[in-house]
Amino acid sequence: MKVIEKIKKSKSALFTFELLPPLKGSTIQGIYDTIDPLIEFNPAYINMTYHQQEVVYKTRPDGLMEKKTIRKRPGTVAIAAAIQNKYKITVVPHLICGGFTKEETEDALIDFQFLGINNVLALRGDPDKGKRKFVPEKGGHSYSSELIEQIMNLNNGKYLSEDLQNATHTDFSVGVAGYPEKHIEAPNLDTDLEYLKLKIDKGADYIVTQMFFDNKKYFKFVDRCKKIGINVPIVPGIKPISTLNDISLLPQTFSLDLPSDLIVEVKKCKTNKDVRQVGVEWATAQSKELIKFGVPGLHYYTLDQSDNIKKIAKEVF
Ligand code: FAD
Repeated sequence: MKVIEKIKKSKSALFTFELLPPLKGSTIQGIYDTIDPLIEFNPAYINMTYHQQEVVYKTRPDGLMEKKTIRKRPGTVAIAAAIQNKYKITVVPHLICGGFTKEETEDALIDFQFLGINNVLALRGDPDKGKRKFVPEKGGHSYSSELIEQIMNLNNGKYLSEDLQNATHTDFSVGVAGYPEKHIEAPNLDTDLEYLKLKIDKGADYIVTQMFFDNKKYFKFVDRCKKIGINVPIVPGIKPISTLNDISLLPQTFSLDLPSDLIVEVKKCKTNKDVRQVGVEWATAQSKELIKFGVPGLHYYTLDQSDNIKKIAKEVF
């Protein structure tokens, strides 16, 4: 079933979460071990991230540097299908522009359709590690809005090859990312929102937000979206703080603010176990307030560990 239909049908906020494919060399069991404790909360759908290849430099025995391209977390498509088959739960694989030509994007979408997957989260992807600027693949998309346009074309039976006549229409429901504290590269929130609106105008059905730790940021974001004519559901993304390191890493990585009260509580902690408990309590309070506000669902960033998400879900769903 399509995510947008699930959102529209539901009378209460949906419980959803996001998983990462396991690191190369690990088994899929870790994914199942993350999902199993959360099944009792009846997840409406599960997101599966996509990870671009990375360029790494290795020192050879002769001292020269060797350039290698590796994908640390392959398997998005296969895992999405495996979860959908095993649990009969809708899976939303992420699809990114980075590393894909338009032809490869088309083929990936065809694979999804053959596997019975008709939901995607359409993203641009981050710049390559260590680079500031996103560089699209030659013959690929520069922005998520272009990717959405290609998906909508396929939904209308328009493939890249103009020779294809009477081709099957795909039936994808598309979600996109939104940033309550603006995307790191955007000059300001207004500009970022204009491009968010473009993604909706191109055919995206709903928005999932970047994590935030102060609900006021989400409330203001929703308000500003409405003011410029963005009327699709906006699902808040929630990440429970889990290590002391998070309080410096998250603002640096995602260009977001952490509330002072949260920092005070985290700094009182003696171990990361204590920090994890603070993260659970903060995210539980956030979730309860968001539900009162009437959010369509809550999207939890698990990082493939569900003990903390289970504690939150027990209190909230
Ligand atoms: P876009 O919407 O394309 O925007 C990128 C930037 O360009 C923004 O600053 C925007 O304001 C600007 N912009 C947009 N359109 C235009 C235009 N036409 N002209 C000029 N500027 C423009 N990354 C992954 O690699 N894999 C994942 O699985 C993944 N999952 C994610 C899930 C969620 C819920 C979120 C919030 C993020 C996820 N990301 C993932 C990270 C995401 O790929 C990065 O944040 C990326 O830098 C931007 O992606 P986007 O789709 O928001 O980009």
